[in-house]
Amino acid sequence: MSTTGTGRAAAWGAPVRELLRARPGLALADVDASATPGFDRRKADAVPALAALGAALSDLQERLFAHGRTGGDRSVLLVLQGLDTAGKGGIVRHVLGMVDPQGVALRAFGVPTPQERAQHFLARVRAALPAPGRIGVFDRSHYEDVLVPRVEGALDAAALEARLAEITAFEAEVAARGTTVVKVLLWVSPDEQHARLRERLTRPEKHWKYDPRDVDVRRQRPAYEAAYADVLARTSTDVAPWYVVPADRKWYARLAVSVLLHDALADLHLGWPEPAYDVAAELARLDATA
Ligand code: AMP
Ligand code: MG
Repeated sequence: MSTTGTGRAAAWGAPVRELLRARPGLALADVDASATPGFDRRKADAVPALAALGAALSDLQERLFAHGRTGGDRSVLLVLQGLDTAGKGGIVRHVLGMVDPQGVALRAFGVPTPQERAQHFLARVRAALPAPGRIGVFDRSHYEDVLVPRVEGALDAAALEARLAEITAFEAEVAARGTTVVKVLLWVSPDEQHARLRERLTRPEKHWKYDPRDVDVRRQRPAYEAAYADVLARTSTDVAPWYVVPADRKWYARLAVSVLLHDALADLHLGWPEPAYDVAAELARLDATA
């Protein structure tokens, strides 16, 4: 983890990327979703920590945007995956909400439309990749195209394997074109998911978030855990690593994703672009009009 004088270093005990990076052979059933890896403070400390990160993120994002405006080719893609209620929307609202919306390209992927189904499964994802200078965010992604068919038995093992191979090749190609790919699996425990789904049913202002299919998917949790474990093992690469973020404590998940995004941006080492004009001459020209 880099330190940028944001006060973040004081609260984080160890490099978050190393702590959260998906390890080979990881059993998701063993992940403690209520843990707060690397953050040695309590919830009350999370608010100032997030605000400090937000200021740093905002600065880095503006540098990225300026870089894109002046011919640079770099961008960042944050892929958010997780079971229903894992908090993907909260990350968008509370983490990406800290930076200038002009620089964010958000795309949520739902059940494919008939038109989308007629295309290659990566086509809709390709069309949503971030332009240079942008932070792209996928709320669900091409990973749904291996998870759902696997759990529903719609594709056989060979077809799933072929898709996984296509995904790793696709992500390597995206990375080679200048996009830093950061993949986050928000991991919520069964009990916390139950509580969150319950709240969607008991609070009228949350009814719109509930989908009766969520209970059917919840029943298939062991199958989703196995499917996710395979996805992590098969597609976590150096150019497109997976991070497993414990998500029962929303404040922790938001902090952790902020750090992951911050560090991805900081690694680009973007300064402010050199102007394509003579600053002194322009100042003189401007002042002559005063
Ligand atoms: P939500 O994120 O709550 O709006 O729900 C979106 C739904 O679309 C989830 O149930 C996803 O599993 C489903 N979905 C997204 N992409 C795909 C896909 N490629 N194939 C099948 N289902 C998908
Ligand atoms: Mg939903």
